[in-house]
Amino acid sequence: MVRTDPYTSSGRVYECLGCGHRSEGDSGRCPDCGNDLKNISVPRE
Ligand SMILES: [Zn+2]
Repeated sequence: MVRTDPYTSSGRVYECLGCGHRSEGDSGRCPDCGNDLKNISVPRE
């Protein structure tokens, strides 16, 4: 049985550049302040 981490398992975690709000698997705008969400779970290139 594999235990998954809620912030790394999906591979898609977005963080608001304005307030730091995090959203999993849902890109677009922050529901709190309306700033852009940045994918913070992408591997380094
Ligand atoms: Zn925000």
